Amino acid sequence: MTTNNTAPKRITVLGSTGSIGVNTLDLIRQNPDRFDVVALTAGNNVDALISQAREFQPKMAVIDDPNAYQALADGLEDTEVTVAAGPEALIAAAELPSDLALAAIVGAAGLPPTLAAVQNCSTVALANKECLVCAGDLFMEAVRKNGTTLLPVDSEHSAIFQVFDAENTQTVERIILTASGGPFREWTSEQMAAATPAQAVAHPNWSMGKKISVDSATMMNKGLELIEAHHLFPVGEQKIEILVHPQSVVHSLVGYIDGSVLAQLGSPDMKTPIAYALSWPERIKVAGESLNLAEISQLSFEAPDFKRFPALRVAREALQAGGAAPTILNAANEVAVARFLAEEIGFLDILRTVEDTLTLYHSDHPATLDEVLAVDAEARRLAKAWGAIGSAAE
Ligand code: NAD
Ligand code: MG
Repeated sequence: MTTNNTAPKRITVLGSTGSIGVNTLDLIRQNPDRFDVVALTAGNNVDALISQAREFQPKMAVIDDPNAYQALADGLEDTEVTVAAGPEALIAAAELPSDLALAAIVGAAGLPPTLAAVQNCSTVALANKECLVCAGDLFMEAVRKNGTTLLPVDSEHSAIFQVFDAENTQTVERIILTASGGPFREWTSEQMAAATPAQAVAHPNWSMGKKISVDSATMMNKGLELIEAHHLFPVGEQKIEILVHPQSVVHSLVGYIDGSVLAQLGSPDMKTPIAYALSWPERIKVAGESLNLAEISQLSFEAPDFKRFPALRVAREALQAGGAAPTILNAANEVAVARFLAEEIGFLDILRTVEDTLTLYHSDHPATLDEVLAVDAEARRLAKAWGAIGSAAE
């Protein structure tokens, strides 16, 4: 089925040069009749943004890094594309009228532009899970107030969305979030203590940006996804379970009161959930081999190990504690992951940083964007100073 007789969907891609952004543009490239690109944004990868903007001819191309403005302007001089730089310009790009904004910036840096998209676009397809972790209530309130359709892109949440009976939530007994277990699933804590950034980003099933790859290695990614699921599917935090499934084929499950458990399966390829969000409520063809269960032959499942992967406990406790705890958890984790990637701290120090920051800093539930950003900034300040705090606490 084609949509030649309907206008193409106007799409803005926030974070177009990242792993999710590039996959999104691949799908748009394969469906030129269906989609039209309105705006593209990037952090500091100016060459990639120039080449994407030359190909897709959006109205606007924005780079977060102001120092890259001139290079972007020069690279697009002979085009009709409006160029801009800086955090305010990211918001301006998100405010351009579009039918769907694909939010794929990494981290809390994506919150202001993604909230702007919630206020200005009819649909937001959310990959940037940190928005829901650091400002879940505020974000969902903005979605309700503006009547925005919010579609999950995260593969687990896309799976849940596809099998979740939103009309009869009282019949949902539990949500089961699957986790690959990451590259260190079988490592001891002693081995993990010596893990290098290269080992941590080498995910067995998924090819992703560095930050989420490290989050998968600590399993903080699943902790963040627990908080994400709590906001997207409000059945109560205690009804959301985590199940380790190393093959990443069953993307998540929903259990009902009659004993039925519904799951969505697929190869570990983000194109499938991205395509679902782009084309919902329809489906579009995604190139690639079909899932071959006979070839995979065995799917396995195991309970998570909370001792070796304390992130699962720490994230759930932050969700239960409420207040500013999830905002602090997210900010401290972002800083600690960056410090680990810069080889300033060890792998296990990531969770030590997060726990110590949560112990040191408490604040009321941030009710506005400014309050979220203030809590985020203070948590970052503490997490950056962690070495001194860590040794003092020992
Ligand atoms: P990535 O690092 O590959 O890409 C991030 C994008 O955001 C890039 O375009 C980058 O230029 C831009 N960016 C980075 N910092 C920025 C800043 N300060 N301001 C503006 N733009 C900035 O990350 P990714 O793997 O594509 O992940 C993006 C988001 O999607 C994350 O929140 C991640 O958790 C989520 N997600 C990713 C995957 C995956 O398979 N990669 C799966 C599920 C969810
Ligand atoms: Mg996921």
